Amino acid sequence: MNTYSNELKNIQPGKTIDLSIIIPCYNEEPNLDYLFERLISVLKPLNMTYEIICVNDGSRDNTLNCLIEHHQHNSLIKVINLSRNFGKEVAMTAGLDYAMGKAVIPIDADLQDPPELIGDMVAKWQEGYDVVYGTRKSRSGESWLKQMTANSFYRVIQKMTPIKIPQDTGDFRLMDRQVIEAIKQLPETHRFMKGLFAWVGFKQISLEYDRPARYKGVTKWNYWKLWNFALEGITSFSAVPLKIWSYIGLFISCIGFVYAAYLIVKTLILGIDVPGYASLMVVTLFLGGVQLITLGVMGEYLGRVHDEVKKRPLYLVRESYGFKDKY
Ligand code: UDP
Ligand code: MG
Repeated sequence: MNTYSNELKNIQPGKTIDLSIIIPCYNEEPNLDYLFERLISVLKPLNMTYEIICVNDGSRDNTLNCLIEHHQHNSLIKVINLSRNFGKEVAMTAGLDYAMGKAVIPIDADLQDPPELIGDMVAKWQEGYDVVYGTRKSRSGESWLKQMTANSFYRVIQKMTPIKIPQDTGDFRLMDRQVIEAIKQLPETHRFMKGLFAWVGFKQISLEYDRPARYKGVTKWNYWKLWNFALEGITSFSAVPLKIWSYIGLFISCIGFVYAAYLIVKTLILGIDVPGYASLMVVTLFLGGVQLITLGVMGEYLGRVHDEVKKRPLYLVRESYGFKDKY
């Protein structure tokens, strides 16, 4: 389990603070002022105690200094500075480990997750739901190619795993303390958060919203990263790609058997037919290809098993601001 949760044993999560907002930040300097302004204008009227935990995920711009400055003006804004860029999923995990709220809401720094939805989420939570997730009704500022690939990804992964991963749903959601404690018990290094959030279950409900374009800055995702993200999701939640090869192998063997029988009969009737180079090549190349793909798929899983057995800590914190009982 995570090393850092041990350091938090002096403070009891879910006792004093109502809401924890978690913001993973990677090169988000131009968004921060407006983000805090909007967040705080939404949080204040709720009359709840809250904390805003910003996780600086190895930003290369001035994000860290800007966050520290905000913390100095408002101690409810707390900062965790990771030792390098670990990726959004891990940054969010760090935030979850540090969060003390009775409910926790991860939110993007680029204002693509409208803070105004938080009020509605809290209302649903107070009605008794454990997870209130935001579902994107529309997505602006994203190319049709991204929307189409995202759609097909959700469809494919749903066919491959029994876990119901909600469509068009990001990480923007409210989760009760009970859910967070459940997620903290999942020790895996490869963290496909959407899947983990779904895996833990609990009483869930969705709220629809229109996803706006990024406020400022550029997305950190390109198609190569998205492809790897999709692989992460599939390998974390499905063993279908591993198992399918036994069936493909069986199918090819059957064809091979029928073809062999045909060749034997043909040879017996018509005698030996020497030329056969083309068909031999086709069969050899085809089988070689299939075997390489199988090895590749096994490699994808084996690589992840390798990462898991190393049991390295998920992240390292360089320093933190605003967490009294630590550092
Ligand atoms: N992010 C992060 N580490 C990374 C990449 C992204 O903490 O390595 C954060 C980023 O600062 C933002 C959120 O994750 O708050 C979503 O990133 P982005 O907007 O680039 O993703 P998109 O909305 O395009 O899927
Ligand atoms: Mg974004």
